Amino acid sequence: MDLYLVLGVRHSASEADIRRAYRRLARRYHPDINPGDREAALRFQDIVEAYETLVDPDRRHRYDAGARGPGDREPKASGFDGFDFSKGPAGGEGLFGDLFAEVLSVRRRATEAAPERGVDLHQTITLGFTEALQGARRPILVTRRDTCAACAGRGHVPSPGGPCRACDGKGTVRVARGHMVFRRACASCAGSGRLPPRPCLSCGGAGLETRSETTTVAIPPGIADGDRMRVPGKGNVGPRGGAPGDLYLTAEVTGDARYRREGDDVVMVLPVAVPEAALGARVEVETPDGPARLRVPPGTQSGQRFRLRERGAPSVRDGRRGDLIVEVRLMLPRVLDERSKALLREFASLHPESVRDDGKPQGGSA
Ligand SMILES: [Zn+2]
Ligand SMILES: [Zn+2]
Repeated sequence: MDLYLVLGVRHSASEADIRRAYRRLARRYHPDINPGDREAALRFQDIVEAYETLVDPDRRHRYDAGARGPGDREPKASGFDGFDFSKGPAGGEGLFGDLFAEVLSVRRRATEAAPERGVDLHQTITLGFTEALQGARRPILVTRRDTCAACAGRGHVPSPGGPCRACDGKGTVRVARGHMVFRRACASCAGSGRLPPRPCLSCGGAGLETRSETTTVAIPPGIADGDRMRVPGKGNVGPRGGAPGDLYLTAEVTGDARYRREGDDVVMVLPVAVPEAALGARVEVETPDGPARLRVPPGTQSGQRFRLRERGAPSVRDGRRGDLIVEVRLMLPRVLDERSKALLREFASLHPESVRDDGKPQGGSA
């Protein structure tokens, strides 16, 4: 493979020419603008290799001298792993503005080569009020970056055997210079005589692929609006074999007209008629667990609260249930008929004391 030919530049090309050629070709062959195009992916790898070799004066000199040792191959394979095509601005000019920095930082990162932990993912799950109280099993669709299945994350696959075509498996090629004929290490196979591993076509050499998968999560009973759950290992897999990140699920619990949460307590409003509150009554209450009977004691006031022990939400920490708090709301009757009005007037005359003034007679003792 003639690296000058790959970039389409003359052997006398300046460094600026090489950068320009690379930039032009990257615009055409970058995997981001040719998703799924295997030819383009392979072509781009060659372009990157040619660029990295020719833009570096030392390496270019050695390449020109035909002394391209096996060590020079290494940065390519590991270098390509460092690309993360998911990052950066989505398309447009900005993508290529960073391309040089990306390629050049690749070699530096390759020498560090420490695996990195993958990033965490975040999703919201919506639950009904009683569903959140009872807990649920939910299948959720997660789109995450995972190790490429085709190459096990290596970014390259073994060649389908056979000798290197450029040197017929000898590992060296004949070079004529003037009257001199000598042999030098074959550049295509780095002198090994065998075809080098090919970049993985499924992942374009990145070693990672984006997959959508369904994961069933167990939502613990009692989860509240805004609570966050961690699903370990379901985030993106890390670069260079790093551990995967986690998936975080934030619960969004929809409201219910009947109930609301106060921590692990569930609060509900119970409408009570005036005679029931004044005289006492037994009333049926619809709780999240089903119907229950509640004794309303005589003289119950509006806003008074009754506590049904351990009928609230289970604690997500220890499973102990909070209480169900029943808040009384006095419902005044619509008094339209004369008979009811007369009875209420009579009732008022029996109770002249003020409701505002701590039991003293209304307007003094006239
Ligand atoms: Zn792969
Ligand atoms: Zn060869």
